[in-house]
Amino acid sequence: MFSILKPLPTDPILGLMAAYRQDTNPNKIDLGVGVYKDELGNTPVLKAVKKAEAFRLENETSKSYIGLAGDLGFCSKIEQQLLGEHRALLANRVRTAQAPGGTGALRVAAEFIVRCNPNATVWVTTPTWANHISLFEAAGLTVKEYPYYDYENKGLLFDEMVETLKQVPKGDIVLLHACCHNPSGMDLNLEQWEIVADIAADVGFTPLVDIAYQGFGTGLDDDAAGLRLLADKVDELIICSSCSKNFGLYRERIGACSIISDTSAVADIANSVLLSVVRSIYSMPPAHGAAIVDTILGSNELTALWHEELAEMRDRINGLRSLIVDALNTETDQDFSFIKHQHGMFSFLGINKEQIERLQKEFGIYIVGSSRVNVAGISKANIDYFSKAVAEVLK
Ligand code: PMP
Repeated sequence: MFSILKPLPTDPILGLMAAYRQDTNPNKIDLGVGVYKDELGNTPVLKAVKKAEAFRLENETSKSYIGLAGDLGFCSKIEQQLLGEHRALLANRVRTAQAPGGTGALRVAAEFIVRCNPNATVWVTTPTWANHISLFEAAGLTVKEYPYYDYENKGLLFDEMVETLKQVPKGDIVLLHACCHNPSGMDLNLEQWEIVADIAADVGFTPLVDIAYQGFGTGLDDDAAGLRLLADKVDELIICSSCSKNFGLYRERIGACSIISDTSAVADIANSVLLSVVRSIYSMPPAHGAAIVDTILGSNELTALWHEELAEMRDRINGLRSLIVDALNTETDQDFSFIKHQHGMFSFLGINKEQIERLQKEFGIYIVGSSRVNVAGISKANIDYFSKAVAEVLK
């Protein structure tokens, strides 16, 4: 049976990681992989996480199953982090299932959508995180794209986006990135969120908000402001969140799929379907990541420490954005100021394939083929080398 299989190409980012590891250039820089890095190029365990883990080691009393929805303390704290004091929460219209990472949450959402409407199309931004397309298609859903990033002017194609969204059939799903758009870093402002929310309410599509970088853009509440605005205007909403980046818990695989329904009674029904989806995929989620987040968010002291560490990561990223603009604008004759107006870890440099290849071969600077760079891979130690190398390939 297996002999009919054809080999598939490896994921380009994983291939890039392998090539980077083998490169012996002492000045090499990895700007490919989407993980936060500190000034030394490390992705350390947060202090708040270490403390929560120590507490858990002492206090965990059982390894028995935690139930289909996962850790209920985690679920309710995440709902609050996402929605604040939103009336959907106060009216008991929100249900959450803990999931294995943001990816697991998206796959649960995809299967949930299939149960609601197997003929639904999921509309995603052009471009989007590549795995969005694969995972919705893997669940049997059709994926279509709507205009989003303006490669020419390094901004948003907002008018084109609006025109397409107005044509989306009722019952379809529109995926929106809450903040720190991956791969472009280009986010909607609040006025634009409001317009999108009005269209969703008018047209009757269901928004699915992917929030994988809450706290990495401008702040925990600011980064969820668009999502909350959407929840003001539509009755039904799906939210897929991830604690990989903001808690630095990547390999613990912790995220959540939250469903907002019109009424509490519908929410109960939706929840029963959500849990049945979970049961048929992985039965129950892993406990550790959720316990860490629950412990941190359940303690004023650990929450304060985590807020500090999150702000440190965010400030470093935003500081690097300014540093990169200054360095590239000095070394090259192009204007890279757009990088300052974007958010999160990613931006497109806007250079071509040949220039990307030269950066890798001649300078050991690793960037994915779309020219998306992970801003956090830059440091004060390598910014000069990086900007001179970019200037060289742009000549
Ligand atoms: N959504 C987006 C937009 C992402 O960039 C990522 C991670 N790269 C995820 C979801 C999933 O994150 P994870 O599964 O690692 O929690």
